[in-house]
Amino acid sequence: MTFILGLTGGIGSGKSAASAWFESQNITVVDADIVAREVVTPGQNTLVEIQRAFGEWVLQDNGELNRVALREHIFKVPEARKTLEQITHPAIRQSIIQQLQRAHSAYVILVSPLLFETNQHELTDHTLLIDANESLQIQRASQRDGQSVEQIQNIIRVQMPRVNKQALADDVVLNDGHLEHLYQQLMTLHEKYLALAEKKQS
Ligand code: ADP
Repeated sequence: MTFILGLTGGIGSGKSAASAWFESQNITVVDADIVAREVVTPGQNTLVEIQRAFGEWVLQDNGELNRVALREHIFKVPEARKTLEQITHPAIRQSIIQQLQRAHSAYVILVSPLLFETNQHELTDHTLLIDANESLQIQRASQRDGQSVEQIQNIIRVQMPRVNKQALADDVVLNDGHLEHLYQQLMTLHEKYLALAEKKQS
């Protein structure tokens, strides 16, 4: 099995920017957010299970998941989140494992905003936190997708606090300067990961 790096960070910390850089170095990146969307597309067993657990109303007329209605329901009924996660998390994990196994690059990255929160770090050999202070997170995330400061603060609040992630991660990159500065730090780590990957293979 190839060396697996888990990459995480709070919203707006620079995970996607870091992932794109690693991809430019021919490293395969499996994105847990994309997998989470894939497992609930029409035809997937997970979507059938969600419909069985919650009712017809979770589907739109075209058979796709009604995310807005489900989000509102979860907001109103706290146990519903648990029910939903019990259905989706094992499916997401299974699909992540399959995609990691299919990768052929020198090492492979699992990028996930909830790497530690959902224990996905157990699937990895080593973890890297892309870290930025909260005001930078808010500034970047609001510029990127036009979300309000309150919306971003709400997301930050449900994510694990920075200090906890700093303590758990094997490597931490502080993304508080120019992108070039981020890429320089990543280059140093990339060399290290290539060596670790080689060591794991031998
Ligand atoms: P995440 O994936 O962690 O939510 P992104 O990588 O999408 O965060 O970064 C959020 C936004 O900030 C993006 O528009 C990205 O291009 C920008 N960004 C990230 N790092 C930097 C940086 N060091 N300097 C300037 N802009 C940055």
